[in-house]
Amino acid sequence: MKRVLVLAAWLVAGWCQAQAPYPLAKPISIVVPFTPGGTTDRVARDLADAMRKPLGAAVVVDNAAGAGGSIGANKVAKAVPDGYTLLLHHIGMATMPALVRNMPFKVEADFEYLGLINEVPMTLVSKSSLQGQSYKDLSVWIAQHKGHINLGHAGVGSASHLCGLLFQNAIHTDMTTVPYKGTAPAMTDLIGGQIDLMCDQTTNTSAQIEAKKVKVFAVTTLKRLDTPLFKEVPTLQEAGLKGFEVTIWHGLYAPKGTPPAVLAKLNGALKAALKDPEFIKKQESLGAMVVTDKRAEPAEHKRFVAAEIVKWTPVIKAAGVYAD
Ligand code: ASP
Repeated sequence: MKRVLVLAAWLVAGWCQAQAPYPLAKPISIVVPFTPGGTTDRVARDLADAMRKPLGAAVVVDNAAGAGGSIGANKVAKAVPDGYTLLLHHIGMATMPALVRNMPFKVEADFEYLGLINEVPMTLVSKSSLQGQSYKDLSVWIAQHKGHINLGHAGVGSASHLCGLLFQNAIHTDMTTVPYKGTAPAMTDLIGGQIDLMCDQTTNTSAQIEAKKVKVFAVTTLKRLDTPLFKEVPTLQEAGLKGFEVTIWHGLYAPKGTPPAVLAKLNGALKAALKDPEFIKKQESLGAMVVTDKRAEPAEHKRFVAAEIVKWTPVIKAAGVYAD
């Protein structure tokens, strides 16, 4: 009898939740799997600002940093699927399955896809005391310091980790990789000269390059970036690393099983944010391109990530770069 009553109470609670208007007067949190002040965090904070109005609710950022993004992603994969816990993650969703062994969650099965947000190029930057300005100068410096070079990154499986591994592989040089919980603290150490090099998104590096706190040697896109800060900066492909290309993208996710009506509301608010002139301006000023195509739709976002997994898995395997 007691069991029947418990089951009935559980069913009623579930039914009430399904009927409750969404969102209720409680905050929606966007989990960022890296530290505050870094690239992913900046996208999330701008997006939270832009989604507040269309959702009519408080949207807050929750930094759950560590393990190259898998701690935060796992937190959302295991969260209650009620629309109050979301994940904002980058290309790591597509590269971690090949890069990291024993992942605690499944990228394709454990999430509802809400839409792609933006694309961001990466830059190869160094501490300001490194001699020279050109990529050639950097190559000479690397040759002279072989065995003593520290390359910072945001943890095993992160974008900076992937880019740094591919760069070492392309120039046939091993470096000591120094993991942080995000590229914000790594940037602090790069500025301080405690580490030598880093590959990171323009959203984290632009201001520091402009202030001459770090030096930029190359961008990771196939074509040069057409902005005053970057138009003189060569691509790694031009510098001789044929086909080198890493462009980061960010997407929004909910735990698997989130009710369809809640997903529709969240996707509507995301699409409103992607058209918000203030959001677009903030993102463009950091070198990010806000998504304007069908990838802002859940089904297309899911297809895109699946295609990225197919694209990156052989690249990572061929380069023989693994996280452990
Ligand atoms: N930019 C970082 C990465 O390399 C993550 C971050 O700190 O947002 O993945």
